Amino acid sequence: MSDRLLTESKGVGARVAQRLATLGLVRESDVLFHLPLRYEDRTTLTPLNAIRPGLWCQVEGTIVHQTIRYARSRMLVATLADESGQVLLRFFRFYPNQQRLLTEGARVRCFGEVRLGSGGFEMAHPQCLPLGENPPPLPDHLSAIYPTTQGVSQALLVRLINSALDRLDSGALVLKDWLSPQQTSISLKEALLAVHRPKAEDNIAALIEGIHPAVRRLALEEMLAHHLTIARQNKARAQQRAQALRLTDPHVKDLFDRFLAGVGFAPTSAQSRVIEEITQDLASQQPMRRLLQGDVGSGKTLVAGAALVVAAGSGVQAAMIAPTELLAEQHHRTLKGWLEPLGIEVIWLTGKVTGKAREAALARIAEGASVVVGTHAIFQEPVVFKHLALAIVDEQHRFGVHQRLALANKGKREGQLPHQLVMTATPIPRTLAMTAYAGLDVSVIDVLPPGRKPVQTVAMSSQRRDEVIERLKSALAEGRQAYWVCPLIEESDVLEAEAAETRAAELAEALRDFQVGLIHGRLKSKDKQAIMAKFEAGDLDLLVATTVIEVGVDVPNASLMMIENAERLGLSQLHQLRGRVGRGSAQAVCVLLYKPPLGQMATERLKVMRETTDGFVIAEKDLELRGPGEVLGTRQTGMMRFRIADLARDGRLLDTVHALAETIAPEAADAIIDRWIGQAEAYVEV
Ligand code: ADP
Ligand code: MG
Repeated sequence: MSDRLLTESKGVGARVAQRLATLGLVRESDVLFHLPLRYEDRTTLTPLNAIRPGLWCQVEGTIVHQTIRYARSRMLVATLADESGQVLLRFFRFYPNQQRLLTEGARVRCFGEVRLGSGGFEMAHPQCLPLGENPPPLPDHLSAIYPTTQGVSQALLVRLINSALDRLDSGALVLKDWLSPQQTSISLKEALLAVHRPKAEDNIAALIEGIHPAVRRLALEEMLAHHLTIARQNKARAQQRAQALRLTDPHVKDLFDRFLAGVGFAPTSAQSRVIEEITQDLASQQPMRRLLQGDVGSGKTLVAGAALVVAAGSGVQAAMIAPTELLAEQHHRTLKGWLEPLGIEVIWLTGKVTGKAREAALARIAEGASVVVGTHAIFQEPVVFKHLALAIVDEQHRFGVHQRLALANKGKREGQLPHQLVMTATPIPRTLAMTAYAGLDVSVIDVLPPGRKPVQTVAMSSQRRDEVIERLKSALAEGRQAYWVCPLIEESDVLEAEAAETRAAELAEALRDFQVGLIHGRLKSKDKQAIMAKFEAGDLDLLVATTVIEVGVDVPNASLMMIENAERLGLSQLHQLRGRVGRGSAQAVCVLLYKPPLGQMATERLKVMRETTDGFVIAEKDLELRGPGEVLGTRQTGMMRFRIADLARDGRLLDTVHALAETIAPEAADAIIDRWIGQAEAYVEV
């Protein structure tokens, strides 16, 4: 018996299957290579008199009390007791079945982090298992926790992986082991079982640190898969051709000089260096494939503008896409301001451009208009370019691989590919950049434009909101502008928009002498633009916003930012948000409002935010706190990433990898690439 599609498993319908596919999980064997992020020890129970704040533990007992409290919203609170003591279980959101499960007299087993609340030790949102007459035995191995994605729950993954492991263990599912016993000390099957289901007495530290033979076995095969892939891609790429766009052409040079003279500031040393790197790439007959990393506010738009000018001057077409309407609109305005005075036509195209305007835009693109700026609408079906030779993607992590490919494909003609520049403000730790972006050359803007002062950051309990509003009032009275961010608190943009609306109304009431605006993802694009325009013009003093402002928005006079629910946001998102302020000359301040009590992770994150504004330091910390899987996102983001190997740790396996690659049979190479990299390979094809 062998591999089968996940759609043949119980409970996996078309929709779930699609979401699983975004994690690269299509076949049963795929889930076996979806490896744990970490482990939880549920093999033992902790008596309630032994629990301590910060401890993740499993406890068991009887519910002795349950109430629904009405604070800011409905909250379920239950007291769990065993012979030795008790603990409070707190649910800020809950379902009727949870309320039923935790009724007085019920016996339950709970797993979660212990915190110190106002009334003693408590667990917020513990995972609870109802215990009937015959409580299930405690597991004899550690519980693996897997990386998930929206719409794919931990429970579903655990079920699918367990079922595949059972079939592997029983021999019903056979995975071909491409490495012989001479080549590794442990078989593929043994390695997979050890990694997914480590025994409590197994060397867990070795597993987590990745020095366990099981991890090494898998890391070796994974590194081999990457090595084989890169070797193939290099071979394929050497054949690719692109139109050379030469700055040395006098006409291009003239346009380029006039462009730089017209932007109103001198490029920073970093911008000049990066522009030089890019113009060199563009002059080559091989397609550029470059990633530009630059912290928020470092001035990536100027660099993009320079590349666009070189393309336009060379008589070919260039396109620049941004992930949101708001950001695309801002780019359009900036670029139009820079390029149109030079006689370069700039076309605007998003999904919201319809009717006659759309027809006109499409016609101009087909006729060869130089520059097109917009959203993903640009790479959709009906858009036909005359000669697209440069594609720029801003905030590339917001796009999927397929989207970037679709854009590049628009420029495929007569054996030539467009040059590609992708830009990101999400700094990838240097330790990851090399492998994460295999196949892309990396440029970094590491100098900020002159005159920037680092944003001062403070963390405050949301209970002190009134105080914050008072301070805000005096700042607004001085003519400053501010953002008030209400980030995603529910998994729904409807609820998020409502929360922002409520907050905007409250703030408008509290700040009656000032103009308060509201922007969120559910507004029409026209309305969003109108509101941003008013804020930019200074007609609004305060802008209440959801995370739609996260990416790229630029209003230099805005120097204050309040972020609610800051404890729920990841470091890179907080960093992105905070980057909206501190772009002008005034000292900028960011207030992180959090709901106490804070968990350990959240405390740590807020501390990092207070201590540094350096995106690379923050990215390193993020990596440390969350692990590479989370930092880089799923395979969808289009970056090469290792699921298990770590070059720093496993570097000494490289010699073995190279030796294996020399001798491996083509069919084995195909199978190993397919097993570890699968569809992700597609993104580097162009
Ligand atoms: P990024 O996209 O990297 O976050 P932007 O391109 O939006 O940053 O630039 C941020 C701000 O800095 C813009 O207002 C831009 O005009 C300004 N800027 C960019 N480069 C310079 C420079 N060399 N000198 C002064 N201001 C600059
Ligand atoms: Mg930008």
